[in-house]
Formats: sequence, structure tokens, C-alpha cells
Amino acid sequence: MSKITCNHCGGKVAEEENYCPVCKAPTPAQQERDLARTRKKFIWFVVGLAIFCAIMILWLPRHIA
Ligand SMILES: [Zn+2]
Repeated sequence: MSKITCNHCGGKVAEEENYCPVCKAPTPAQQERDLARTRKKFIWFVVGLAIFCAIMILWLPRHIA
């Protein structure tokens, strides 16, 4: 069981912890996970927007004419 140093407060955090027990800052590993989750959400947002645009492009002309 090794310890890593918190980037935020400089305190010791156990490697298996996701957040610093002192300042509650996420560890680098947890930051990476948070970033991956945010990136995944953003990709799904773009995919959803693309599908929405495709539906609108196909659907709108019929209602204008
Ligand atoms: Zn800390």
C-alpha cells in the first residue's frame, strides 16, 4: 500500500483512495477518470446533436413546402 502526495494540499493520500482525506481534492488517477467521464459525456452530446440535426434536415423541408 503506497502513498501519493496530494497536488492540492501536499498531504499524503493512499493510492487506493480517489479523493484526498484532507482537502477532498481528487487524486491524479481520479482526475483522469473524471476527465474520461466528461469526455465521454461530451462525445454523447455531439452524437445526440448530430442525430437531432439529421432528423431536422430530413423533417423540415416537407413542412416548409
Ligand atoms: Zn489534499
